[in-house]
Amino acid sequence: MATSAYPVGVDLEVELRTHGYRVTTARRVVWDVLSAAGDHLTAPSITSRVHAVDPSINGASVYRALTLFAELGLVRESRYEDASTWEPFHDDAAIHLVCSECGQVMHHDTELVPRLRRAIQVATDFAPDEIDVRVSGRCGHCPAESPA
Ligand SMILES: [Zn+2]
Ligand SMILES: [Zn+2]
Repeated sequence: MATSAYPVGVDLEVELRTHGYRVTTARRVVWDVLSAAGDHLTAPSITSRVHAVDPSINGASVYRALTLFAELGLVRESRYEDASTWEPFHDDAAIHLVCSECGQVMHHDTELVPRLRRAIQVATDFAPDEIDVRVSGRCGHCPAESPA
């Protein structure tokens, strides 16, 4: 299967220090929650998981940590309909497979996205920044609707 987990090996402390930021408790816990989830999480669900670890970290601190991580390229924010979800950064080659039944998001690595990027660059004078491919459908755990 070409579905992948997140790339491991990002050292939060090194990343933050390199850019002149300290590792605060809030930043550390938010990062741990994101890395452990291996999934897309909404800000409220990140906040509730953070609260389970340390109830003194409030929602504003969680949001500030997410914003900083996004600026540093450590997380990827996806806007789906009216909500944003967050996850550790991965490159565009991983496309999102979203189950419309249970909401699970899977990652599928495909060479097609880098090829699409090159095709756009060759055919147009448009410089692609982020390519975010999302495919909706039904995952293997959600049974097809049985005829009533
Ligand atoms: Zn993703
Ligand atoms: Zn499903």
